Amino acid sequence: MNNHIVVTKFGGTSVADATQFSKIKEIVRENPERRFIVVSAPGKRFPGDRKVTDLLLACYKKAEAREDFSADLDKVRARFQEILDGLQIDFPLEEELKSLEKSLAEAPEKDYTASRGEYLTAKIMAKYLGFTFVDPAWCICFDQDGQLDMAMTSRTVRASLLPLKRAVIAGFYGADMTGRIHTFERGGSDITGSLAACATEADLYENWTDVCGLYAADPRIVDHPETVSHMSYRELRTLSYMGASVLHSDAVLSASEMEIPINIRNTNKPEDPGTVIMRHLPSGVEKNPVTGVSGRKGMSVIQIEKVMVSDGSGFSALMLDILKTRALPFEYCLTGIDSITLVIRNDLLEPCKEDLLEEIRTTLNPNFIGLRDKLSLIAVTGEKATEVSDANVKVLERLTEEDIEIVTINQGAGKLNLLIGVPEDRYEDAIRAIYDCRQTLAKKSH
Ligand code: ASP
Repeated sequence: MNNHIVVTKFGGTSVADATQFSKIKEIVRENPERRFIVVSAPGKRFPGDRKVTDLLLACYKKAEAREDFSADLDKVRARFQEILDGLQIDFPLEEELKSLEKSLAEAPEKDYTASRGEYLTAKIMAKYLGFTFVDPAWCICFDQDGQLDMAMTSRTVRASLLPLKRAVIAGFYGADMTGRIHTFERGGSDITGSLAACATEADLYENWTDVCGLYAADPRIVDHPETVSHMSYRELRTLSYMGASVLHSDAVLSASEMEIPINIRNTNKPEDPGTVIMRHLPSGVEKNPVTGVSGRKGMSVIQIEKVMVSDGSGFSALMLDILKTRALPFEYCLTGIDSITLVIRNDLLEPCKEDLLEEIRTTLNPNFIGLRDKLSLIAVTGEKATEVSDANVKVLERLTEEDIEIVTINQGAGKLNLLIGVPEDRYEDAIRAIYDCRQTLAKKSH
């Protein structure tokens, strides 16, 4: 008997209407290993549409302000009714919505309200597929401060799912010991999927969405960028952190700890193999040395000069202590012979900028301190970029040819990323130039 388990998560656009539900049925039917299905709440059907979770949060906001929330609740009702009509399913929608309406009218709770999109979607999906419905309130365990209890969740999800032949579990939420509902961050159904995959020791975690995988660059900047067929967890985490958003980064973390491969797929193009994310690439996979390029605007650089920073007198440690006391995170810190460079997000730096500079001056007595804002940080990511080729050199050459100022460069010994600081007004040019350079590297390596 084949005991393979595939946990299959469908995102908001994949459950947006009845047509999408029917595509899911086909996908699930096609592979019996897809035993555990995780769903988001219906997302946007067209640009300008509203996600069900947003409508629910709008209900909550009004209810909390003691305003009339019925118009938004009617929109939620209409979304689900449209799905039920399209699928011709008998489902007690009114009864289910009554409990929500009652809670909104009497004692509105934000997380409970937000979670009802996933709850209803999963119940309807379970009925439509003929699978068992699993409410994560029974098995995704939060403590009373709203933190996930990982150990307990692992045990209870395993105990709830494994005895079942097939099940649909709602994404995005769980409950504490008192039964109170807690949600993850927005986009958190990915986390539920990953928890289910880890708890059941699945062979694969599929994440079905509306794109054919991870792009090698931001499609809002680069025209029709390539999708990457394979990448490592480390590469994905960097690309996601730096702005490529397909999968919640916490979801990647738990799957990578258990070494469960993740496959990003497109519900609207099920024939496309999508992107596979795993620890090591399978042998024989031809891969561009640069996996992808991503970045963030809104960065500042602080440059501190002091003769012999690196002489062991603890100058750098003092600098990091100042940041730690202020709980101010930084993107990276580079120390040189006579200098320290810190890259910090503007939005975090701005509120404490003057105080911080003053503290550095008085505590460290530097020879020079400078600050430059309006920068972007770009990550050129690729496990093979430094090992196999001169890819990073080519990238830097290309930026120079385009006359794009390179304000900082950092390539740690981990050799995963080349981080480049460029002026914010050249960010898009830089991304395009690096992507272009990546494409020439692909041609060379074939
Ligand atoms: N429905 C939630 C959201 O819109 C969670 C999710 O889709 O993953 O953020």
